[in-house]
Parts: sequence; structure tokens; C-alpha cells
Amino acid sequence: MRLRGVGYVVASLPLPGKEQAKLERTQGNQAGGAGARGGCVELTNHSPSTIAAVTRGRNACTCKDAAVKLTVIGCSPAWPNPGGAQSGYLVESEQSLLLDCGPGVLSRLREQTGAWPEAWPEPDSIAITHFHLDHWGDLVPWVWGWIHANGLGGNHDRPELWVPPNGKQRLEVFGSELGFPDMFERVFRISEYAPGVPFTTAGHTITAARMPHYTVESYGFRVSANGSTLAYSGDSAPGQHLSDLARDVDLFVCEATLSTGDRDGEPRGHLSLDEAQEAFEGSGARRLLITHRPSELDTPAHFELASDGLVLEIL
Ligand SMILES: [Zn+2]
Repeated sequence: MRLRGVGYVVASLPLPGKEQAKLERTQGNQAGGAGARGGCVELTNHSPSTIAAVTRGRNACTCKDAAVKLTVIGCSPAWPNPGGAQSGYLVESEQSLLLDCGPGVLSRLREQTGAWPEAWPEPDSIAITHFHLDHWGDLVPWVWGWIHANGLGGNHDRPELWVPPNGKQRLEVFGSELGFPDMFERVFRISEYAPGVPFTTAGHTITAARMPHYTVESYGFRVSANGSTLAYSGDSAPGQHLSDLARDVDLFVCEATLSTGDRDGEPRGHLSLDEAQEAFEGSGARRLLITHRPSELDTPAHFELASDGLVLEIL
């Protein structure tokens, strides 16, 4: 199954060798720069046929020689940027893994997979960082569309869904309010991850680390496959935990919701751009991708900023 929609702007940024990247980052830091940036940066409109759709198992990644491909499905903060989708990051190696599923993400995935019911999005697995709506809300319409396509019975191959501790019970409560108690279990094979305990799903190894995010139980992920590792902050207050999460990864996808840290609540729950940069510098990560950023805020050009539809090949 291939992308049918057009208009995705794809930044295909082959990374240089690890040593060269570290050198470039050091030089960039010395010059007051932001994240590591590859030497050959190319911004291009890919033909839809070059991008794999969200297809379970086979042909999940068509990137030549790419260990892992990351597609930013949606990168808006807790409110949508104009025309934007909220949190959703598709990680593909041999299989596909969706990190978070906020409002607008399902619509974007459906643009890729085509008409219902034959082509309902089929990631092999979905992992949710926390239960703020902008990170999981589209699981609700996902249930309704999937049931329309497949019915309530049968042995359809359901995607895995990994949720924080006690997430099964929380989904049952949400289901009781929004539909029926086992509505999510009907559609997803639900498991709960545990802090610091690696688990494998869709061919990717994930370790979830607790992130401070106001009073909400929230996690960041380290995701590894085929020798490449990315870290995803989810939503987080500043601190050493972020650098630990992203220690020596190939790509650090880090939120920067705030203009300045003093605009946050108490306890803290989000990052400013400076705080994201500080976490990156302390991590040894090769490359920083800023996300969850309101479009109203300035982002200096030396930061690499996520946009919906952005595709990165992590070599
Ligand atoms: Zn959020």
C-alpha cells in the first residue's frame, strides 16, 4: 500500500558518519549553534511512491540503506497549530511503530493509506507517552472506524497498544464514558510498559523513562532498531532526566512548548527552546529535532524544527 495523498514536504537528511556528526556538533556548539546538522541538507518534494504507507509488517520502510525512518505525522503542541495535527511520530524499520496518537493523526494516516475499509491504517504497534489528550485522543475515533471496517467479532489482526502503568484501567474508565468499557480492547492488543524495563514491539526495543510533567504520569521513550536509536521526550519539565533519556542517541526529538521557562506552571511541565538545547548538549546525542512547538513562537533557523510530514532517515 502506498501513499495516495500529495503535498507532503519531505526533508531527507542523510546523516554523516557518527564521528563527523559529533565533530560538527562540537563546532556548532562552539559557535553558539543548536542541534547537529548533516553536511548535505536537502529539502525536496518526494514523489508519493517513494514513501511507504502505514502497512503492517511488509515494506514498512522503503528508505534505501536506512536503519530507521521517522515520519512526523503531527507535531502541534497541546493546541493545534493552523492546519496541523497533534503528537504522532511514525518510526519504521522492518515494521512500523507509532509514538503517540493525538487529534489529527488518524486523518493524516488515512491520507496515506487510502479508502476505508480496505486500507485502514495498520501500524504494527502504537505506544503512548501519557494520557493528555493531545497524545492519545485519536485512539477514540480509531476505535469507531476500525469497528465499522471490521465489525465487533472475528479474529482480525489488532495492532499492539503500549500504555503507561495502570493504562488498561484508565482506558476502561475512558471507554465507559466515551462508548463502552472494553472499546479499546476490542481494537488493540493492550499492554502496559514499566519504567526502565525495555520491551520489544514491532521489531523496536523501547525503554520508557518517567518524565516530570505537571502532576501527570508521563514518559519519554528510547527507541532502538537496526543499530539506530532515537529518543522522544514526550512532554517534560527540564532536568537531567532528559539528557539521560537521550544519552548518545542518533536523534533526539524534544519538545519546546514555551517561550521561556518562567511562563510554565508549578510544578513545571514543559520546556523552552533553551532548556531543550541544554538537555541536548548534556546528552551526547548527535542531532536535535525540536517539536511540540507553537507556530506563534520564534524558532531561530539554526534549530531543526519538526513539521507535519517531515521524514528523516536515521542512518
Ligand atoms: Zn503534549
